[in-house]
Amino acid sequence: EKNDSGWNLENSYAKLPELFYTPLKLETVSAPKLVVLNQRLAEELGLNAEVLRSQAGIDILAGQALPDKAKPIAQAYAGHQFGYFTMLGDGRAMLIGEQITPAGQRFDIQLKGSGRTPYSRSGDGKAALGPMLREYLISEAMHYLGIPTSRSLAVVTTGEPVYRENPLKGAVLTRVAASHIRVGTFEYAAQWGTTADVKALADYTINRHFPWLLSEPNRYLGLLDAVIKAQAALIAKWQLVGFIHGVMNTDNVTISGETIDYGPCAFMDHYDPTTVFSSIDLQGRYAYRNQPNIGLWNLARLAETLIPLVDDNQQQALQLVEDSLRIYPSLYQAEWLKGMRLKLGIANEDPQDERLIADLLGLMKAYQADYTNTFVDLTLEKTQSSELYESDAFKEWLKRWQARLERQEQTNDDSKQLMKQANPVVIPRNHQVEKALQAANEQDDFTPLQRLLAVLQAPYDYHSLNQEFMTPPEPSNHPYKTYC
Ligand code: AMP
Ligand code: MG
Ligand code: MG
Repeated sequence: EKNDSGWNLENSYAKLPELFYTPLKLETVSAPKLVVLNQRLAEELGLNAEVLRSQAGIDILAGQALPDKAKPIAQAYAGHQFGYFTMLGDGRAMLIGEQITPAGQRFDIQLKGSGRTPYSRSGDGKAALGPMLREYLISEAMHYLGIPTSRSLAVVTTGEPVYRENPLKGAVLTRVAASHIRVGTFEYAAQWGTTADVKALADYTINRHFPWLLSEPNRYLGLLDAVIKAQAALIAKWQLVGFIHGVMNTDNVTISGETIDYGPCAFMDHYDPTTVFSSIDLQGRYAYRNQPNIGLWNLARLAETLIPLVDDNQQQALQLVEDSLRIYPSLYQAEWLKGMRLKLGIANEDPQDERLIADLLGLMKAYQADYTNTFVDLTLEKTQSSELYESDAFKEWLKRWQARLERQEQTNDDSKQLMKQANPVVIPRNHQVEKALQAANEQDDFTPLQRLLAVLQAPYDYHSLNQEFMTPPEPSNHPYKTYC
């Protein structure tokens, strides 16, 4: 039953065994205020944006009132954090239900920063405005870049302080995701539940995300294969745009293959495979170049939980999941190579392409060239006036690339078209994100944020090149640092 506000919630997750969640009570906040609303997303969800902007709507977005048929819960999960297994769960998030859209799709509606839960441990259950706006900006940027991701419907401020090193403005983000089922959810079931619990979760997941597996002889092995495929494709897309997630713990790896948990993530400016932004990633475990391998490590943690379901003969089951995991590197490599070829306007395959790509990346690294802009320059044929472009090694490479483009049927125009669809002109540059957040935080001025958002909604628009948002930051002795 729909109503004027458009809320059309179901609560399928809450039908899982109780082990998987805890019902929550609402908390009140003193003065909730809407600061950003995603009108387009509201419409896709079938929600009435005008009603969301009203006091009744804001109360829902702040977590102090519920729409019809909402059933607030915190989800239980575990996870390997920087390699170490631990119990986690939604410590500052509340799932209010699953919105069924007019197109019949199901999306989790989750409020992040809505207060303490049984899984909060020592945390306060709250979120600060800056990080929630950051998640909003970057998740929306990812969506428009064409990368599977959770999305952001709104940010409200609560009118209450949250205490970190300093008092900050409290905020709640409404996160929208295909689901919040994580590798860590399976680890939790395997560690603290029975095989029947793992099976209940696997069956639920298959029904929700991979229903075509229901007719497969081994649906649980099929589930593993589907997640391996989705994660290989996702991480390849991250690498292709220079996105560094920053905290690829197993609790932050979705089964749906969406990017989730925008904490210390950031985009790389100049190309350096060792880039790490997160202040807590001291060993560089989650450095740019490590992301594909960490993906495999995380998938192995998922595979372990599925062994009891894959075959009654556990030796046989182990063999089967190992065989599945062994395919990941080639799946990843194929996705990445396909994407890299497109970034260079290449439509067919040549065994020497990998060499050609590696040599370009090697030069970009040697000359500290901007990752995004180098591909834009190649697209626009504007490879002049930089140390890289003036080098003999690059001129040599350019000739090899041009010769390569002649070894395909596509015209130069065709190639350029492929490149324009694969090479974003704008990414959420760290210095621009910081500027927008600062104006919002310190001056209550959301104009820079809205301007940045507008630009990030058309990252492949080569018609209106906006130098302001394309320019990399000034070189600095202080590397950009991000926080959870
Ligand atoms: P993350 O590093 O964002 O994946 O978070 C790890 C865990 O810490 C998750 O279970 C979060 O719910 C929890 N957490 C993060 N911040 C807070 C907070 N302020 N209060 C309670 N729990 C939190
Ligand atoms: Mg997390
Ligand atoms: Mg987080």
